[in-house]
Order: sequence, then C-alpha cells, then structure tokens
Amino acid sequence: MGTRPIVDGDWQEPEVAQIIDAITDWVNRYVKPVARKFDHADEYPFELVEQMRELGLFGATISQEYGGLGLPATVYAEIVWTIAKAWMAPTGIFNSHLMMAACVERFGTEEQKRYFLPKFASGELRGGVALTEPNAGTDLQAIRTTAIADGDEYIINGSKTWITNGINGHCVALLVKTSTQVEPRHRGMSMFIAEKGEGFKPGRKLKKLGYRSIDSAELIFENFRVPKSRLIGGIEGLGFKQAVGGLELGRINVAARGVGLAEAALMDSVRYSQERTAFGKPICEHQAIQLKLGEMTTRVEAARLLVKSAAEKYDAGERCDMEAGMAKLFASESAVDNSLQALRIHGGYSYSTEYDVERYFRDSPLMCIGEGTNEMQKIIIAKQIVERNPA
Ligand SMILES: Cc1cc2nc3c(=O)[nH]c(=O)nc-3n(C[C@H](O)[C@H](O)[C@H](O)COP(=O)(O)OP(=O)(O)OC[C@H]3O[C@@H](n4cnc5c(N)ncnc54)[C@H](O)[C@@H]3O)c2cc1C
Repeated sequence: MGTRPIVDGDWQEPEVAQIIDAITDWVNRYVKPVARKFDHADEYPFELVEQMRELGLFGATISQEYGGLGLPATVYAEIVWTIAKAWMAPTGIFNSHLMMAACVERFGTEEQKRYFLPKFASGELRGGVALTEPNAGTDLQAIRTTAIADGDEYIINGSKTWITNGINGHCVALLVKTSTQVEPRHRGMSMFIAEKGEGFKPGRKLKKLGYRSIDSAELIFENFRVPKSRLIGGIEGLGFKQAVGGLELGRINVAARGVGLAEAALMDSVRYSQERTAFGKPICEHQAIQLKLGEMTTRVEAARLLVKSAAEKYDAGERCDMEAGMAKLFASESAVDNSLQALRIHGGYSYSTEYDVERYFRDSPLMCIGEGTNEMQKIIIAKQIVERNPA
C-alpha cells in the first residue's frame, strides 16, 4: 500500500521522441490557433478534450496494466510544458484527472483499480481531486465535509470549492471527515471516489483572473449516499496521507506548466524584440531589453533542469519532496517573472488582448498557489534541508 505507480511502460528514446512529436504537432495544429479565442470567451474546449482522449493523455501516467500509457514523470513533464507553452489551461484538465487516478492506483483496493483505472485511462470517466473547502485550503485538516457510515453506505454532507473539472468531470477523489472527534485530526480523514448522482451536484462555475475556459467549481453534497466499496483503500482514517501522497507528482506537474509559461513569455519577447524598432534599431539591440532577455532565458533553463531532476528522482522511486518543491517554487516564480518582463518588452501592445502576453500574465500566478502555495514550498524545502543535514 502507498507504493508509487510503477512505470511499467518500457519507453525507449525513439518512442518518447514520437510521443513528443505527436503532442507538438497537435499543439501547433489545434491548440495554439484557438487558445486566445477560448480563453477570452471563457469557453470549455470540448473538441480539444476529445482529441486529448484520442492522444491517450487521460491515461498518460496510469500503468499499462490498467490501460494507461505508463509514462515516466520525465516524459510526462515534457508533454505538460509542450502544451503549456501554447496554452496552460488545458493541461489542468488531464493533470487533475491523473491526480485522482494516481490516488486510486497508489492507495486503492485491487477491485477499485480494476474497475476505475481503465475507465480513467480511456477518459470515459474523467474527474479531479476535491480537497479544498471554503474555509480550508492549506490547512486541509480543518475541512468540514463529513461521511457518516450507514449500513453498506456512507452519507456525505458538505461542500468543496475551486475544484478543477467540477462541472464537466464525472467524478472526484473526495476528501472528507469520517470522524470529527479523533486526535490528531488527520486520523478522522478519508478519501472516496465519488461519482455524480443524487445528492452530489456541481454549484457555480467560478469566474477567474486566468486559467479560463477550464471549469473551477463548487461541489455540493446533500445526503449523498456512496457505497462503502468507494472508500479508497477500504480503510477509514487514511485520507490525509492519500491526499498529500500524490503531491510530489502534482508539484512536478505544476512546475512543468510553469516552465511552459515562462518559455512562452520568453519566446514571444524574443520575436517581438526583433520586429519592434525604436531609435533606429530593433529593441533587442538595446541593452535594457537584453538584460531582461538574459534573465528570462536563464530562468527557463534553470526551471526546466529543476523539473527534470525532480522527475528523474520520482521515476527512480527516490524521495523527492524537496526536489519537487524546489522545482514548483522556482518554475512558478519564473513564469510570473517572465510574464511580467514580457509585458514590459511588449510596451503598450502588452495591454492588448490581441497579444498572448496578457494571458501569460493572468495564467502564471496560479502556479504559485496550486499544489501547495509557494510559501509552503519554502517551509517544506527548509525543513528537508535541515532534516537531511543533522547537526
Ligand atoms: C484556479 C484554481 C484551481 C484549483 N483547483 C483545485 C482542485 O482541483 N482541487 C482542490 O482541492 N483545490 C483546488 N484549488 C484550491 C487550492 O489548492 C487552494 O487555493 C490552495 O491550496 C490554497 O488554499 P487557500 O486558497 O485556502 O489559501 P489559505 O490556505 O487560506 O492561504 C492563504 C495564505 O496564507 C498562507 N499560509 C497558510 N498557512 C500557512 C502556514 N502554515 N505557514 C505559512 N503561510 C501559510 C498561504 O501560503 C497563503 O499565502 C484551486 C485553486 C485555484 C485558484
């Protein structure tokens, strides 16, 4: 129990190159041309989701044994930054889904794995992870949603917020309290796979600064009955561990999105600064712009290397909470910094919705919040460096 999904795909270099080529081709043909339109309209990209299904993205990190591709985290990270470079938002659709799948694959009973994972891998059943509540995000142990045992079922009451895929998804890995009395509080927490039905419905689709088009929603549970067979792992009290157990891969994910955004901001700036002239020369020949491009380029490369290094450790089955935390912290801050510098380089046009840099600027701060805020990453990194170097 609790072991990492085994990378069971025997992926060789040429096959990996083929996958990345296929994704790049899809991104250039179908994602890039529609990103601005969908983002501005805040419209869900149904066609892209169908294409993601065909590409196998909903099973990217699910073991081949259960119908997935069994991709290593290194390849997965490359896929994520390739897509995020064109449009970050769609990566959230399969990232959140795969976090739910990883929870079942790592912690579920064999019966749960056999039932759910093939459906998740094909994208027939899609969903996400429902942890956050209106009163509790970082402090997950303060959640109030309860699941009370009643014969062969549990009755769930409460609400969740900010849940990715909350409207268009079919199910969620749901964190609840099966006991509000036990101490420490995490011993009273459990996770379920909850499929929408009577008593479980989405609430509002939340309006957002960025990461538009993708549904972030409230979920409402009113006397929602779920069979005991849907308790992940079949034992109460393990929910907190299960919820945080997927965070390493989740952080590598978010970090890869940061790399994509940081690189997009850089490359748009490189192009623009060669085309735009001021005082008789392209602005890339002005030193003030060169200083920005120099910093932006270095950030992209450093972020990419941190993500690669964390993903390699993850694939090798080594502890990588500090490495994933550093990758997430640095890559997300790089996305924010590069987006801001891209705005400066684009001058007045940066404020135009006819350019993409305004979207990078709106999308990038999310990377500093999701999968544990960057404040928390710094604390995790600090604790780890001390623990790994006892006096
Ligand atoms: C677009 C979007 C999509 C999301 N998708 C999902 C999803 O699919 N599923 C899901 O469950 N959640 C999701 N979330 C929620 C997200 O995970 C939370 O917003 C995040 O965990 C932070 O929680 P919070 O918003 O409650 O902030 P809080 O926990 O209230 O934090 C507020 C501030 O206090 C700081 N802080 C809190 N505690 C400490 C501490 N001990 N030490 C130092 N600083 C601290 C934080 O770093 C932050 O700066 C999403 C959020 C957004 C915006």
